[in-house]
Amino acid sequence: MQTTVEEELFCVNHPKEATLLRCSKCLNPICGRCAVRTPVGWRCPDCTGAVAGRTGYYVPTLLSQVTSQQYFKAIAAMLGVAILGGIAWGQFRLVGGWGDWSFWFVFAISLVSGEVVGRISNERRNPQLMWIAGAGVVLAAIVALLWTLGVSNDINPSQWSLYLGESISRRYLGLTLSNGFFVVLGALFAAQRVRE
Ligand SMILES: [Zn+2]
Ligand SMILES: [Zn+2]
Repeated sequence: MQTTVEEELFCVNHPKEATLLRCSKCLNPICGRCAVRTPVGWRCPDCTGAVAGRTGYYVPTLLSQVTSQQYFKAIAAMLGVAILGGIAWGQFRLVGGWGDWSFWFVFAISLVSGEVVGRISNERRNPQLMWIAGAGVVLAAIVALLWTLGVSNDINPSQWSLYLGESISRRYLGLTLSNGFFVVLGALFAAQRVRE
C-alpha cells in the first residue's frame, strides 16, 4: 500500500542524522555528510566506490585509477628500461677508461623510467606507479652490476674477496657510497614523474 506521507528517514551510516535524501542507486537514506554528487544524482559512498577522506567522502579521480592491464604494461616497460639501461651501463664500465659515469647513467635511466611508466599507463599517477618507476632505476643498477660481473674476464667471482674494498671493485663495479646514493636519488626522481 502506497502512502503519500514521507516517513522520517535516518542515514544508514549515521543513524542519528535525519535526512530526506536517498541514494539514487540503492535508495538507502543518506545524510549530507555521506552524499556523493555524481552525474546521476546523489549516491551513498558504497555505490560510488568513494573513500573516506579528511573532509568527507570523495571518489578517487580517474587519474589515479590504474587497470591491471596498465600495471602489467607499466611493469613490462619498466623491466625493458632496467634491462637495456643496465646492460648499457655495465658495458660502459667494462669498456672503461672514461671513469665512472654512473651518475649520468642513473640520471638518464631515471628520466626514461619515469617517462615510460607515465606514458604507458596513459598518464595515470598513483603510489603503485611511483614504486614501479623507482624500481626501474634500482633494477638497472643490479643489471649493470650482474652484467659487469658476468661479462668481464678481469673479474673472477671465486676470488671475490680480493675485490672487496679494493679499487678494482670501484673501477669495474662502481661500488661506491656515492653511486648508491645516486641510485636512491634516481629512484625518487623517477617516482616523481608519476606522483599523484
Ligand atoms: Zn547506494
Ligand atoms: Zn551519513
